[in-house]
Amino acid sequence: MVENGYAGPSRRQVLTAGALAGATVLSSGMWATEASAAAPPAIFYSPHQDDEALGLAGAILEHKAASRPVYLVLVTRGENDGLAKLMNTDPCPLTTGSDRHPCAAGGHHGVNWPTDGSSKIVPCRTAEFMASAATLGVDKVINLKIVDSPYGGPDAFARFVATVKSKIASIARQYPGASHKFTAGWLEITDTHKAIADAAVQLAREGKLTDVRFNFVYAYDQPLGSRANGAAYVLDIPAAHMATKRNAIYCYNTWAPSRNLYALGYHSVPNKLESAHNDPHEYVFTLPNNSYQFGSITAPHPEWS
Ligand SMILES: [Zn+2]
Ligand SMILES: [Zn+2]
Repeated sequence: MVENGYAGPSRRQVLTAGALAGATVLSSGMWATEASAAAPPAIFYSPHQDDEALGLAGAILEHKAASRPVYLVLVTRGENDGLAKLMNTDPCPLTTGSDRHPCAAGGHHGVNWPTDGSSKIVPCRTAEFMASAATLGVDKVINLKIVDSPYGGPDAFARFVATVKSKIASIARQYPGASHKFTAGWLEITDTHKAIADAAVQLAREGKLTDVRFNFVYAYDQPLGSRANGAAYVLDIPAAHMATKRNAIYCYNTWAPSRNLYALGYHSVPNKLESAHNDPHEYVFTLPNNSYQFGSITAPHPEWS
């Protein structure tokens, strides 16, 4: 399941990242060989705060268990004005209407946030993301803070792809030999996801990324029987890892204002989080073929023909 080239002794699995870093200073002794063979990182790219808990967490834990350093990249800032307005609404819209869910605040948020979608939403969504990253035990978080702006037509989409490409290329140069894990954006409804996958596919085709995989993080919107359609493989998440993945999901449904946690993830995508919570699988794709449709670009991608 793990596509790394490193298969160290099982005792190495008990090493923490800190212990591993310490081991690299040894010039001889039993750890020296292992230290020099330290695997390059597996780098996971989460388009927004919540995607890593939804559909990357099992793969993250799989790589951690294989003693791979895992870096988690938050690609966009995750601005969302609709979510700010939702949180200002009383009673909580989750508790009214036809699609009802429990509200971690008891249905009354008591907030009066600016509705720019940024000044309050971005730091609070990022607090949830950091709590999730800590729960998953990633070795490093890289926050690219890209303005979430692929919307408004092909030009905006292309500009966003170019920005993302340049940032990912820079990370790939910094960590040679790393593997790179994205979301299967071409299957996912948001232009942000489509654009990030587009950037990844272009970079792979240009030879600037190796070992590229895509987890279908919106699979959990699909009927159970069709989630694996087209996937290269399905990751069966072991029970212990699934417990940790669920704890990461809970970071997005925790009401703890003193820690900047306002259950924003759950208020944003309650059904996806519930469905991911209940499905101990992740759906992993390899590089797609030439002919799928991206975002606002309706023809086959010109650079792929
Ligand atoms: Zn997303
Ligand atoms: Zn609520």
